[in-house]
Amino acid sequence: MIDIAANIAAIRKRIDAACKGVDRDPAEVHLIAVSKVKPAAQIEAAFACGQQRFGESYVQEFRDKSPQVQAPVEWHYLGGLQSNKVKYLRGKVAMIHSVDRLSLAEEISRQWQKIEQPIKILLQVNIGEELQKSGCTPAELERLLHSVAALPQLKVCGLMCLPPYCGNPEEVRPYFCRLRELAEQMKQLQLPAVSMQELSMGMSGDFEVAIEEGATLVRVGTAIFGERIRPKR
Ligand SMILES: *Cc1c(COP(=O)(O)O)cnc(C)c1O
Repeated sequence: MIDIAANIAAIRKRIDAACKGVDRDPAEVHLIAVSKVKPAAQIEAAFACGQQRFGESYVQEFRDKSPQVQAPVEWHYLGGLQSNKVKYLRGKVAMIHSVDRLSLAEEISRQWQKIEQPIKILLQVNIGEELQKSGCTPAELERLLHSVAALPQLKVCGLMCLPPYCGNPEEVRPYFCRLRELAEQMKQLQLPAVSMQELSMGMSGDFEVAIEEGATLVRVGTAIFGERIRPKR
């Protein structure tokens, strides 16, 4: 049996320790519990332990599951997103982490104009420049940011990455470091509606290293809810 309360408590401790190690305030690092493939009851159980933010990666699953969750959780959308499915997220998610192309940003802007609300987004960077992964390349980022920043309703809060999988978290460190450098460069542009204060990086296997490199949003699934049966992507 998975002990969600114990897992969350253990992760919070590890987040605090990682922050302490590099002299960061733990209040600036938020844990996103990645609940994809997991039932509403487990989300409610995590919420009862004080966990507020939850991440989902599949639109269809989110559509079906989110109405079953009674607790006032804050939803984050992390997964690949087709423009024609953005409407199912409209008004329901607090932040979309996976914006990687202008056409998608335009559709998000259009949908949130309908409800006259702002929506926080992050630009996903394919930091390892891997063929099979989504995300804009580091070289494309500045252009994309300029175009996206001009769209109504969008608040560009920072960057997100899913670095190459490495068994050893130390091998991922340079990618996290690179994402932070990119965010700093983008901040220098001082574009309106762009704040660049959020770095969404770090998962179950490497969130401490991500925090050491500046993560403000860590996305942890397996270490809270246990292994997923369905493949994650
Ligand atoms: C599934 C997923 C995670 C969580 O991964 P774990 O290794 O289970 O912690 C984080 N980020 C994204 C984008 C995901 O799809």
